[in-house]
Amino acid sequence: MYDVIIVGAGPAGTCCAKRLADKGFSVKVYDRRREIGSPKRCGEGLSESIIKYIGEIPERCIAKRIKGSRIYAPNGKSVDAMLEYGGYVLERKVFDKWLAEEAIKAGAEIQSDSFIEELIEEDGKFVGVKGEFVGDKFEERAKVVVCATGAESSLRKQALGIVSKTELIDSCLQYEMSGIDIDPDFIHIYLGNEISPRGYVWVFPKGKDRANVGVGIVPGEKTAKHYLNSFIANHPELKKGSIIEVNGGCIPVGGMQENMVADGLIVCGEAAHQVNPIHGGGIKEAVISGVLAADVISDCLKKGDVSNKALMVFNKMWWEERGYLMRNVERLREVMEKLSDEDLNNLADALDPKDIIEFTRGSKLSILAKVLMRKPKLVKLAKHLL
Ligand SMILES: Cc1cc2nc3c(=O)[nH]c(=O)nc-3n(C[C@H](O)[C@H](O)[C@H](O)COP(=O)(O)OP(=O)(O)OC[C@H]3O[C@@H](n4cnc5c(N)ncnc54)[C@H](O)[C@@H]3O)c2cc1C
Repeated sequence: MYDVIIVGAGPAGTCCAKRLADKGFSVKVYDRRREIGSPKRCGEGLSESIIKYIGEIPERCIAKRIKGSRIYAPNGKSVDAMLEYGGYVLERKVFDKWLAEEAIKAGAEIQSDSFIEELIEEDGKFVGVKGEFVGDKFEERAKVVVCATGAESSLRKQALGIVSKTELIDSCLQYEMSGIDIDPDFIHIYLGNEISPRGYVWVFPKGKDRANVGVGIVPGEKTAKHYLNSFIANHPELKKGSIIEVNGGCIPVGGMQENMVADGLIVCGEAAHQVNPIHGGGIKEAVISGVLAADVISDCLKKGDVSNKALMVFNKMWWEERGYLMRNVERLREVMEKLSDEDLNNLADALDPKDIIEFTRGSKLSILAKVLMRKPKLVKLAKHLL
């Protein structure tokens, strides 16, 4: 019997595990992947603000340091939104393994290739997991179970009935490409209803001639593959490259949960839709959520009370630290997806690039509202931001 079992060795699970192990609790993490971090499901972009939560990232986890985002309006005009402390394009497979190793060094146990089929519930409390490790069935028990499975697992449905609504999921496809030409100091974001309805095309450099080139779209008649291939075909600097890896997946861009706990259970990270709704970045949100979950679990274990009522502190802490900001970002996404290409072109001319970064963090949205209000037909939409 462990103090805590964590299902999922992504950033939410491993950061939660490390924090708990650092505090002296016994922790077991299971992941269904044969290799932690692989296959990657990620554009690998991350802002430097993450180091507040995980410390300095080792060089081997970083493919490229970047200065900011170059954002392209539909008419091709670009603005450079600089990040105060820069950011990274990671080697996500190495990064996830590093986070796992940090948790192990702190005392946590991690077991890959372990698919958790079911959470064990007794008398309305979650008390363990049932799974399979390399063909052998097993059961393990703990005082608290953490569901950090990401958004593509059905386990969170058993845990708290969480399902992702189709309209709040972006469908993504990405090629890691080599032999391309791109300014490697920026991540490149291309907006436009023609090239990627609701989402954007990204080119995240991993070096001078290598990048993750991907698209996220609201699922519709045409597939993500259609949009990605069309974009590449129209960009000679990409078209000349080769595809060395293909990644796909879905990103929740809304649907944050009011409640993420039950008796003996916490759901955290992307499993609880804790992803930035405008750019789909989920690594930072997963890390913060995992750390907050660990702090709450630690307090509850010390008091000997892991009831729903005691664990509910997690809801309050997450909403105060991240949720209300992410809700602002969700409103921003709701406004952005209604703008025409012409509106987006006008915004690129009117906005101060510094503010754009703040908007994506859920701050200063009144500035954007004021700019939108200059056009009478956008007044109603702008009010959604206030
Ligand atoms: C195409 C794409 C591009 C993206 N690009 C970026 C980006 O550039 N920057 C960014 O910040 N975010 C990006 N994201 C989002 C980011 O990858 C996720 O939000 C983040 O990994 C969430 O972390 P997590 O720990 O909550 O979940 P995950 O990283 O998904 O980890 C969950 C783990 O749980 C395991 N698991 C699931 N079910 C079970 C089970 N039943 N039993 C055992 N194990 C289980 C999985 O194998 C997985 O390892 C992208 C996502 C996609 C799909």
